[in-house]
Amino acid sequence: MKISFPYMGTSPLVVSYLFENLGHEVVCPPVPTEKTLSLGVQYAPEFACIPFKIVLGTYLEVLEMGAEVLITSGGCGPCRAGFYGELHRRILRDLGYPVEMIIMEPPLREPLDFLRKVYRLLKPAKLSNLYHVFRVAVEKMLSLDEIESTMHKLRPLAYNKKLITKAYSEGLEMIRQADSVKEVKEAKQATLEALWRVPANHEYEPLRVGLIGEIYVVLEPAANHDIERILGDMGVYVHRSIFLSEWVRYNVLGSGEKHIRASAIPYLNQMIGGHGQNSVGEVVRYAEKGFDGVIQLAPFTCIPEIVAKSILPAISRDKDIPVLTLFLDEQTGQAGIETRLEAFVDLIKQKRRKREAS
Ligand code: SF4
Repeated sequence: MKISFPYMGTSPLVVSYLFENLGHEVVCPPVPTEKTLSLGVQYAPEFACIPFKIVLGTYLEVLEMGAEVLITSGGCGPCRAGFYGELHRRILRDLGYPVEMIIMEPPLREPLDFLRKVYRLLKPAKLSNLYHVFRVAVEKMLSLDEIESTMHKLRPLAYNKKLITKAYSEGLEMIRQADSVKEVKEAKQATLEALWRVPANHEYEPLRVGLIGEIYVVLEPAANHDIERILGDMGVYVHRSIFLSEWVRYNVLGSGEKHIRASAIPYLNQMIGGHGQNSVGEVVRYAEKGFDGVIQLAPFTCIPEIVAKSILPAISRDKDIPVLTLFLDEQTGQAGIETRLEAFVDLIKQKRRKREAS
């Protein structure tokens, strides 16, 4: 069976490697483009959030490329993400694609069902190979996160930002080709060295901005208009609140998020689905770490992020940290995003000057 999956950030490099080496034929999803989004918009309910639409567009593209089985994550808690796999399946079926969807719910929710699906995905694999494949996949994921976070640190300092982009793209390709833990580590090292070799002003102290919000729009540049690059090119250091490996740790292994939720409790003491409670907790944490500002990325109609947004002004006032919310949907234009980012960066720059002068 030919399998495929949604495209999100750097995850296709890891997921493709994993499934291919477990013995599956993989249709690797292409980078989402405007065509992907407009395909999704055409067939999705109007009220659906942008991750739903981009993922639907990706499904339509990979089905045209020959995919027969789609693998996706489920969801729990009061967010409609939990229904999206099934909704996608019905839309695709009505469009004439009788595709099979394997929806991976959090393992502790229905352990038996989870194990049955895992067994199915592992079935073609050679047992002797399993440990190696998983070790390499994990190493790739951790390396990609380290490379990305290093790129975020160095981009605002670099004199020629294009050299950072080039070193990063070449690094991704090296990680993609690596086929053992040793090769992945070497590829990571070579990429980090290439990034550090880019001429930069290491004395410069950039403004520091935390990036929070719904996971898909935070991780996927096609959904957020490449906001990390735009800010980095403006000379701003962006600290992303979540990386792929953390998402896997929190959602698959169910560990590690408690400290973020604990920070949210004075303002929001219950789970509201998606990353809503995390968004609240992360603003508190960025304020405590002395960041200059926070940007919340929220898909239009995303209830968890709308609830979080209604609370953020109180945190912003109490902790004296500016917060900008950007709602994203298919109508959002690049120029509008850039203008709002420029205004926000001006605001936090002035705030820092005032603080330094006092
Ligand atoms: S968290 Fe928001 S954007 Fe993500 S699936 Fe739920 S409603 Fe949609």
